[in-house]
Amino acid sequence: MGPEQREEIAAVLKQRLETELLLGAREIPVSVDAVGERTSSVQVQNSEEQAERKARELRLLDEQQVCGCVKCALSRTRTQTVFGQGRPSARIMFVGEAPGFEEDRQGLAFVGRAGQLLTRMIAAMGLDREDVFICNVLKCRPPNNRAPATDEIASCSPYLIEQIRIIEPEVIVALGAPASQTLLDTRESIGRLRGQFHDFYASGTPMIGDPIPVMPTYHPAYLLRNAQEKPRAWEDLKLVMRRLGLPIPERHR
Ligand code: URA
Repeated sequence: MGPEQREEIAAVLKQRLETELLLGAREIPVSVDAVGERTSSVQVQNSEEQAERKARELRLLDEQQVCGCVKCALSRTRTQTVFGQGRPSARIMFVGEAPGFEEDRQGLAFVGRAGQLLTRMIAAMGLDREDVFICNVLKCRPPNNRAPATDEIASCSPYLIEQIRIIEPEVIVALGAPASQTLLDTRESIGRLRGQFHDFYASGTPMIGDPIPVMPTYHPAYLLRNAQEKPRAWEDLKLVMRRLGLPIPERHR
């Protein structure tokens, strides 16, 4: 067996393990049946040129607009803005609510406890954090992690929309109610929104541009408090994997 095949098998086993752990399994059933499929269906990158352009545009957006933003009062209480991070040409974007304590301290999205669970959810999909793009609706931490205010979302969401326009993901996973409701312009509950794809138009209107499918699902912080909902979140993620042609472990198909 060559080193490449060994790496493939390791990746498949890692995905299998992460999925079982995410769902709280104690025993890990192991087989390597998905190896061939994985090789043929993981297409995580656009062309290099496009990727470089997207990286450049994202950097400019951060440096010239987000970093020094004073559009709302959160600019006075933040340590720093949290733009988000990951692959500029990612096929999947994960969008959360707002930076928390750890994110505000480090300047990175989803690096606290909820972030650790998000990492596991991504790993269960057979991906690494570096394969996807992770960001939030708000780029600044609300004091004491309170819920984002309407005016804060109104000020900040144009940055998110610009990020989506640049990255052009094939699917957006909206984590929790604020992200889902902001992207889909609705007050519907996450319980009703999750489990199916919804259309998002970066232009703001179905008249212009193609829709990007949004999959609302539970926020990892909610899943930390409500582990019994993890199987539902996993169902949502499997819908995303199916849509992108990512291999789903046989036991979970
Ligand atoms: N919760 C979020 O919504 N975003 C983060 O970055 C961290 C926690």
